[in-house]
Amino acid sequence: MRIGVYPGTFDPITYGHTDIIARSLQIFDTVIVAVAPNPSKRPLFDLAHRVKMVKHATRGLQRVRVEPFNGLLVHHARKRKAQAVIRGLRATSDFEYEFQMTLVNRKLDRSIETVFLVPSQEYSYLTSSIIKEVASLGGPLDDFVHPYVATQLIQKLRRQHP
Ligand code: ADP
Repeated sequence: MRIGVYPGTFDPITYGHTDIIARSLQIFDTVIVAVAPNPSKRPLFDLAHRVKMVKHATRGLQRVRVEPFNGLLVHHARKRKAQAVIRGLRATSDFEYEFQMTLVNRKLDRSIETVFLVPSQEYSYLTSSIIKEVASLGGPLDDFVHPYVATQLIQKLRRQHP
């Protein structure tokens, strides 16, 4: 059984993320979406809320598990008996950071590979930050995020800036 762990902040999950999850399911039997607290990124949504949104956005996808995780990614991957970590590659700007993380993770656990997947071109410019910006300016979100996520974004931003 091939298990892949797809880690991230998912603040919030976008169609770019779900594109990567769908592609991962062609390679892995089970994909575990592991949502990181990442307080240094000062997320807009708390961890439980981000997990809930990922669950909504992946509801139609079989063989996907969603959970929060704490601590080192390689420890979590080993605990889940995963063979690989999955990461999405957008523009070349992702490359340097991902390359560094991959080599550090390999140093920490040589048995876990990192697999990079490239999203459909229409999502290759999408970031959670851009979506938050569009939402805060009242722009349409339908092409970028699941309807449930769009509602959560609008409510959250309304609460912050009534
Ligand atoms: P992190 O804080 O770990 O970068 P993110 O939620 O921003 O968490 O991203 C998680 C993973 O998904 C990363 O590998 C990132 O490159 C990838 N990703 C984010 N947005 C997209 C997208 N639009 N298309 C493909 N991959 C993406």
